[in-house]
Amino acid sequence: MSATFNQLPIAEALITNLTDLGYLQMTPVQAESLPVILAKKDLIAQAKTGSGKTAAFGLGLLSLLDVKRFRVQSLVLCPTRELADQVANEIRRLGRTIHNIKVLTLCGGVPFGPQLGSLEHGAHIIVGTPGRIEEHLVKGSLKLDDLELLVLDEADRMLEMGFAPTLDKIMTFAPKSRQTLLFSATFPKQIEQLASALLTNPTRVTIESAHTELSISQQLFKVQGAAGRLQAVQLLLKHHQPTSSLVFCNTRRECQDVADALHDAGFSVLALHGDLEQRDRDQTLIRFANRSLSVLVATDVAARGLDIAALDLVINYQLAHDVETHTHRIGRTGRAGQQGLACSLFDQADEFKVALINDELATPLQETALPALEVLNKLAPVPPMACLQIDAGKKQKLRAGDIVGALTREQSIQGDEIGKIQLGDDNAYVAVPRAKLKIAQQLLSAGVKGRKLRVWQF
Ligand code: ADP
Ligand code: MG
Repeated sequence: MSATFNQLPIAEALITNLTDLGYLQMTPVQAESLPVILAKKDLIAQAKTGSGKTAAFGLGLLSLLDVKRFRVQSLVLCPTRELADQVANEIRRLGRTIHNIKVLTLCGGVPFGPQLGSLEHGAHIIVGTPGRIEEHLVKGSLKLDDLELLVLDEADRMLEMGFAPTLDKIMTFAPKSRQTLLFSATFPKQIEQLASALLTNPTRVTIESAHTELSISQQLFKVQGAAGRLQAVQLLLKHHQPTSSLVFCNTRRECQDVADALHDAGFSVLALHGDLEQRDRDQTLIRFANRSLSVLVATDVAARGLDIAALDLVINYQLAHDVETHTHRIGRTGRAGQQGLACSLFDQADEFKVALINDELATPLQETALPALEVLNKLAPVPPMACLQIDAGKKQKLRAGDIVGALTREQSIQGDEIGKIQLGDDNAYVAVPRAKLKIAQQLLSAGVKGRKLRVWQF
């Protein structure tokens, strides 16, 4: 596709600048969403990271802007300060040929006072993080009466970080007649809810990242007996060092046995199967999703609800009983356009299953040699994150923004290093880089909004 920007009703000055920036053609998400944005319609756009979403809404909001009206006409919400800074800079770059345009960032983790001063001077475009924007709205230092366009960037991350209630609150300050755009790399179920609350008749743009059989590499390993299977799993995990991997078993009993054995061998691993209490199941999923747990050993039924964007490796400890289940299992790796790897173990008794699967494939699975036994001397993969549990939640009026605020207070932890935040009624979980576990624990225990908290690794 070779769609050029000048096919659209974008100001000449913006187009010339795009050429200077080396933006000669529209990326697919830009080609599909810009016409919708310029027609002032609501939009939900899903496209993978790096696909040019910032310029899609950036050019849209710059084209729609009336520079002579010195009022806040567009607001862009981003999950972290770093992302907000990047977006603001990209908008400034895209709009540098329009004179007197004022773009202001309003993010948490920096002093409030100077922001009040900047707001008094006025702005056309505000880019900020939800918590701080909400604070300004409540204080009355930011007014959205003239807002025409609202953008939710990285909506999936904002939900992950627990900003849904903050977004709802911000909307109560924005005019109902506005245009709203939602951008996201992934599309978890909760986005649908958010979209139906905040958008009106949105047009949907989905840019598929090529996800075919080709983006999943399948390998087949011959093993003997339970001990052979277990050793093969260890070899594959230690060889590939995946951040997140899923090991499929066919029974609950086997799941637990494999997880126990891997645990004894030093792996960060838990089992997920139907015999678990709901609470244990939820906690296991939280840890796996926030990357503080490397390996999950699961049955097909238990893995059904799993909503994880990127699994580096799927291992079939036992082959599935039918091709459909097999395809479903391996389809969990290689999401978001990344190359995935699926390793299947089989023994002599499984040869009919291998034949069944091979019947469906264009090129039959080839048996591969396992990594050399020396690999067993390597360390088990270490999860990049650690999970902290906090003894306060929604009922204690704890908000995701409070946790982010406490963690970034001393600049030793940056906003974009903080992983998933999950708020329960009486507790909360937050993932932080493993190397910053101690400092994170100290910052949170020292108190959030003047209240001391109990915080422990979980
Ligand atoms: P996303 O928000 O989808 O993750 P970005 O908006 O950050 O992606 O864009 C990724 C990169 O692509 C940036 O470096 C940006 O400058 C560049 N880019 C965006 N649009 C174009 C284009 N039309 N032509 C060339 N480069 C582009
Ligand atoms: Mg982006």
